[in-house]
Amino acid sequence: ATPTSIMVGSGRAAELGVLFRQGEALQLLKDAKVVALDKTGTLTRGKPELTDLFLAEGFERGMVLARVATVEDRSEHPIARAIVAAAEAENLALGQLENFESVTGYGVRATVDGVRVEIGADRFMAQLGLDVAIFAGEAQRLGDEAKTPLYAAVDGRLAAMLAVADPLKDGTPAAIRALHDLGLKVSMITGDNRRTAEAIARQLGIDEVVAEVLPDGKVAAVERLKAAHGRLAFVGDGINDAPALAAADVGLAIGSGTDIAIEAADVVLMSGDLRGVPTAIALSRATLGNIR
Ligand code: ADP
Ligand code: MG
Repeated sequence: ATPTSIMVGSGRAAELGVLFRQGEALQLLKDAKVVALDKTGTLTRGKPELTDLFLAEGFERGMVLARVATVEDRSEHPIARAIVAAAEAENLALGQLENFESVTGYGVRATVDGVRVEIGADRFMAQLGLDVAIFAGEAQRLGDEAKTPLYAAVDGRLAAMLAVADPLKDGTPAAIRALHDLGLKVSMITGDNRRTAEAIARQLGIDEVVAEVLPDGKVAAVERLKAAHGRLAFVGDGINDAPALAAADVGLAIGSGTDIAIEAADVVLMSGDLRGVPTAIALSRATLGNIR
């Protein structure tokens, strides 16, 4: 490819809201074999809502929701906003927060009005030595509905299971279809629950799911998919995605995502619409003379 064709190609991409930060990315994309995508905020809107709350024996809804919302009020995670919004909608007063701690990939904990409160994934409860089996049936059902089950512990006892749902972005199904039409393999890499991730993958026809990945495991997942399939593009939005964006052959960040992700990426999808990914690949092939 000549420098001129690359400039023309990236100019066309910019008109479509696809910003090439690295000219080399346009050349690399034409031979991509697999596109791996983060889930929350990339495939989905990243604005989940609380949909369910089941209580363990002896716990009361308002008390549990107010306490977990007090902890989540301090968290940056999209799940946190869903829980705080639900408490606000019920006019629950937040308590006195102390000793807040975020355990990345697991959940959050703090002391609320002098009582220990933890909220997060089943693996977080397992770390605390709490058995979540009483909610197993509901958790499976919710996961199969593409909802994310979460667990709350109050004063060292399992108090509730909650679920949040995060709808797909409008352009996501069409983007995945277009990637398949271009002959690419499509994978999802997520920290979320396996059943939830698989339910979403089923809806979208995604070929391969790597779920329950801890934040420092995304790079290993990228390396593994690269070794299995060849040249890989990774699409993500979060702080957690920055190392995977850098490790991919081409990293594409969501424009509304975190600055750290954007800085680690070669390409930025300004509108956040995933249809920019097949557009960029098709453009790369057209510009660099490899139309298939
Ligand atoms: P992802 O962005 O793919 O959800 P994370 O590593 O951020 O991956 O989170 C993994 C899991 O840890 C979440 O799906 C959730 O179960 C739990 N978690 C993380 N942060 C929180 C939080 N603030 N509140 C509740 N659960 C959380
Ligand atoms: Mg994300």
